[in-house]
Amino acid sequence: MDIYAPDQIKQLVKQTVNKIHALSVKPITLMEVCGGHTMAIQKAGIPSLLPHHIKLLSGPGCPVCVTDREYIDRAIAYARLPNVITATFGDLMRVPGSEESLYEVKAEGADIRVVYSALEALRLAWGYPLKKIIFLAIGFETTAPGTAVAIREAQQMNKDNLMVLSAHKLMPPAMEAILQADIPINGYLAPGHVCTITGADIFQFIPQKYHLPVVVSGFEPLDILQSILLLVQQIEKEEARVEIQYKRVVSHEGNIKAQHIMNEVFEPHDSWWRGLGILPGSGLKIRHEYKSYDARERIHMEIPPAQEPEDCICGDILKGVKTTPDCPLYKTICNPDHPIGACMVSSEGACQAYYRYHQSSRNHESKT
Ligand code: SF4
Repeated sequence: MDIYAPDQIKQLVKQTVNKIHALSVKPITLMEVCGGHTMAIQKAGIPSLLPHHIKLLSGPGCPVCVTDREYIDRAIAYARLPNVITATFGDLMRVPGSEESLYEVKAEGADIRVVYSALEALRLAWGYPLKKIIFLAIGFETTAPGTAVAIREAQQMNKDNLMVLSAHKLMPPAMEAILQADIPINGYLAPGHVCTITGADIFQFIPQKYHLPVVVSGFEPLDILQSILLLVQQIEKEEARVEIQYKRVVSHEGNIKAQHIMNEVFEPHDSWWRGLGILPGSGLKIRHEYKSYDARERIHMEIPPAQEPEDCICGDILKGVKTTPDCPLYKTICNPDHPIGACMVSSEGACQAYYRYHQSSRNHESKT
């Protein structure tokens, strides 16, 4: 997308919406798998601009939402240890663990600090040499290279008081799991940020194996509408290929250097996703060569299996089979001030997006 004046953008939005209405005949369900898209779609009221027969579903694209409770319970157990500083992204603070959240544990006196990157955690390791710094590493291919850089730098500088509790995840296995679960979607709005690292070609298996189109989208409302138009064009012509709408940032091959660093430090392993269960090769584990930075390797603790909150349907929402209004707890006892499930906690979560922005987004069926 080029740079346009506000009036030009309005005009382009109108033209794009008109084209979608003119072209789209069949009932179509599209899924976005990026929390940034979920929020942007709701905030801009995009569902209300689309024909009734185009539905938008949200998938497992919010990193906080797909992270399991056992991870939060483990992070809390580590945070309670003496001489530990826990470094975490802000979104994780209020995610409920089995009994408490990091936020509550901090209020009880644990040293838990919000950081914006893994390198900030490394800086804490330099600033507090007598403390152990545990970085809570969540996110997809977008954030994993940053964690890998921090681990590699720590090793090169012989800085051994940094540890990482990795819950990094890989997007393609989750997208394939959705298709294998026969969730009836006609195309993917692919995650723009993930693709800056992986490149769009990582999703070639989707048209090849499942004959579904994929469009890598940017995050402005016009980006998303253009991406929907590209998907509609392919679907109406019964075509299936990977297209890049977000060309100003994404290439087919991605950021090779970031991919190398990520692969040097991490290896794929089986990982649990809320709503999807354990997916083979869908998580990132710290490789043996860097195991002294792996918090699980250095701090052995048995964490009891965690139960999901009763009646919270966050998992079904992430899978695309239910929507936020289907949840009996929505707005009755679950809201952003009192979140019951991860989907209401995260600023990219489906339930929070629905709560904050939903007006008449009739076509956005999940996380909307
Ligand atoms: S509204 Fe709350 S309880 Fe219901 S699914 Fe969403 S996060 Fe879970």
